Amino acid sequence: MVNPRSSAQRAQLVFDFSDGSREQVDLLGGKGANLAEMTKLGLPVPPGFTITTEACRYYLAQGEEPQSLRVQVTMALRRLEDQLGRRLGDVQDPLLVSVRSGAKFSMPGMMETVLNVGLNDYSVKGLAEAAKDERFAWDSYRRLVQMFGRTVLDIPGELFEEELSAAKQRAGAGTDVEMPAAELRELVETFKQICAEHSGREFPQDPREQLDMAMRAVFTSWNTERARIYRRRERIPHDLGTAVNICAMVFGNLGDTSGTGVCFTRDPATGKQGAYGDYLVNAQGEDVVSGIRNTLSLEDFARLDPASHAELSQIMRRLETHYRDLCDIEFTVERGKLWMLQTRVGKRTAAAAFRIATQLIDERLITEDEALHRVTGDQLGQLLFPQFDADAERTLLTRGMAASPGAAVGKLVFDSATAVAEAARGENVILCRRETTPDDLAGMVAAAGVLTSRGGKTSHAAVVARGMGRTCVCGAEELDIDAEARTLTVGDNRLAEGDVVSIDGTTGEVFAGTLAVVASPVVNYLELGLDHALAAADADTADVVRAVDRLLRHADRTRRLRVRANADTAEDAGRARVMGAEGIGLCRTEHMFLGDRRVLIERLILAETDGERETALAELLPLQRADFVALLTAMDGLPVTIRLLDPPLHEFLPDRTELAVKVAVARANGGADAADERLLAAVERLHESNPMMGLRGVRLGLMVPGLYSMQVRAITEAAAERLAAGGTPVVEIMVPLVASVMELHLIRDEIDGIVAEVAGNGEGAALHIPIGTMIELPRAALTARRIAEAAEFFSFGTNDLTQTTWGFSRDDVESSIFAAYLDKGVFTVSPFESLDRDGVGALIRTAVAAGRETRPGIKLGVCGEHGGDPDSVHFFHAADLDYVSCSPFRVPVARLESGRAALAAETGDGAL
Ligand code: PEP
Ligand code: MG
Repeated sequence: MVNPRSSAQRAQLVFDFSDGSREQVDLLGGKGANLAEMTKLGLPVPPGFTITTEACRYYLAQGEEPQSLRVQVTMALRRLEDQLGRRLGDVQDPLLVSVRSGAKFSMPGMMETVLNVGLNDYSVKGLAEAAKDERFAWDSYRRLVQMFGRTVLDIPGELFEEELSAAKQRAGAGTDVEMPAAELRELVETFKQICAEHSGREFPQDPREQLDMAMRAVFTSWNTERARIYRRRERIPHDLGTAVNICAMVFGNLGDTSGTGVCFTRDPATGKQGAYGDYLVNAQGEDVVSGIRNTLSLEDFARLDPASHAELSQIMRRLETHYRDLCDIEFTVERGKLWMLQTRVGKRTAAAAFRIATQLIDERLITEDEALHRVTGDQLGQLLFPQFDADAERTLLTRGMAASPGAAVGKLVFDSATAVAEAARGENVILCRRETTPDDLAGMVAAAGVLTSRGGKTSHAAVVARGMGRTCVCGAEELDIDAEARTLTVGDNRLAEGDVVSIDGTTGEVFAGTLAVVASPVVNYLELGLDHALAAADADTADVVRAVDRLLRHADRTRRLRVRANADTAEDAGRARVMGAEGIGLCRTEHMFLGDRRVLIERLILAETDGERETALAELLPLQRADFVALLTAMDGLPVTIRLLDPPLHEFLPDRTELAVKVAVARANGGADAADERLLAAVERLHESNPMMGLRGVRLGLMVPGLYSMQVRAITEAAAERLAAGGTPVVEIMVPLVASVMELHLIRDEIDGIVAEVAGNGEGAALHIPIGTMIELPRAALTARRIAEAAEFFSFGTNDLTQTTWGFSRDDVESSIFAAYLDKGVFTVSPFESLDRDGVGALIRTAVAAGRETRPGIKLGVCGEHGGDPDSVHFFHAADLDYVSCSPFRVPVARLESGRAALAAETGDGAL
């Protein structure tokens, strides 16, 4: 085995920007790889170097950096110093650097950044001289001590913020920019004292020590609570680590000819063509993204500094041509000179993703296949969210920026912890903050929507909410939010915590009270067709609908997997068909025994003689038959897989405790009820400690005489009836929870006889009803070669297969232990949500191969929840199944992902 210690010691752990490229994203992280790419393109990137993710992983595992890293950093630093002719932290005209995190997948605001590294009590004077601006130099030093104190020395940020506010007040300065140099110098002293008092050590004066400590803090920030929460949500593995980018500082806070901005080559919120951005004059780095000051638009920037704006526009076009996608760019202007600090393929809303992908096809920059690759099932799923009813009565409170689309209604809460607590109680909440910080992440995850009074579309709230598909309105400036008093005032309206508001992330509007919500235009399109949906939509919405239609149709042309739905009623089946389902992969028959019909099952269970049992079954038969006729009518011409009864019988009986109490009370009162007594005896008899593992599935069929026969008769008669009515029923019978081929043989003997009998009677003669089984127990998967002897198809029941492979009770563990397991990194996503490829997936592959060995043409599908999960769909494609089956609402998602999976497999970008 390779020793990770020695391999990291030998590896190249530091790359100059001029050495790397965007292909090296695993090693250099997204930011580092793209800085290298821009350098290669000859764009104005300040020079620097990247410390690899490998170094980070080593550091996190060993608690110290590889020794060779010190040497490699020294060499890279010297090259940088030589290139610029300045030394890090020199007393005259010092080189200063930024130290920024940058993982493979962007995690906005989740990890640390330290700017102005290299400043100390001496070099600050050199900087003042060189920049001919004393105020600027002290402001830069103030920022370094503050950032270093907070992120490297772990001192609460408020301590610095409070001093800063107090100093501003003393100086009568409205903003940071108005603070005079003398005040800033004093503030640096205060900040240094805070560092010394709270960390037990002096703020380090040695520039290299600052650099090394900042680098370690960035490494460590990979594992902060908020970064872990973010990764869990975004399904980013915990073991990747972050790269660290060391870059020569350029300054946007050198007066009015300087500034800093963020821009997108197209609007990331709506997908509209044309650049979109925010610019702040005389500001540094994080000021734009943190949303603490309100920003200028790119048009304002063009008026202010036409030359830099023209150069930026040219670079935007260049980058979009190079990446052939929406780019997200951070830039700084230092005294009229434009610098590119970052670019990446930009995050976007779901609507923007579809629109931009089709725009790029039309601009002949990408192919249709590439466009399909660029949209995801998750994004399509987001577009299926409802919107506010346009005709609903509404009281507009105010308008902010439409930062992340959707319609959210909920109770106002003013802090993250309350959002989490209320959401846990099942309340919908709107998290309302002046601006959000990464510390608000848990609240944002828990909330139905996020509302802020400060910051633009690139503020933290906006970026994070978009990333997680959470509705967000930001920068609603008229809102006066008092987080202490837990109130929100706008005009004459004063709302308190718990009051309900409705926020529209598509328009930026904020309404008082609950607003009625209607289906999404994409659902409209699916249900009523393109023309109808377009007629009902405004221009922007119509564009989204057209893009969805185009890419969904391309997915349909591309995919190999068929997509069916899990549907139990004719109504669900109709809905599934509208969503594009090509059949029913799972009809669970248990719902047909609930409600009014429960008494019939009760009678069946309580039957003491064959005659009583047969009477009960005879009563159920016509009801079942009618159910199946309706279902087969709704799905006429398409396959319908009907599963015989699966859940334990006691689920159809009254609650044991309640019944026992009722009987006990009756007995005590001397009036025992004979029916209740019998029922209680049956409940006691059927009680199981672990019903999931008990008398259910095929075991029911074998233990309760006549039950499966009745169902099979109802199915066959229904099919015959449909045939007689001129329909085209395509029905399949599925046996649940089979572990041994013997169980299936025994049931088949019973089923085959009834099918032959019913089909043989006249109309049914033309019927062929395949009989198959679910594969949902490990033993079934492992003995699939034998089971295929008796099964014409397999449908993988991945819910039970996950439950039994992991030994996790599917009803209990998600709430009891999954949070801890996710946190500890046992898995990055619940195996009930996304298929566990290594374990459950291995069983599926085994069963696929074995099943085909016995019966080469055997039809193979999946009907567990995973059938609608994008990532799992890729696995099922690669495992060579014939179809996936999922809830009707997820059918479009599965269609899209099946198309994407086929493409990914073709291009070797595959799932396995
Ligand atoms: C399964 O187990 O995956 C399945 C589809 O059946 P059910 O969820 O009804 O147990
Ligand atoms: Mg099951």
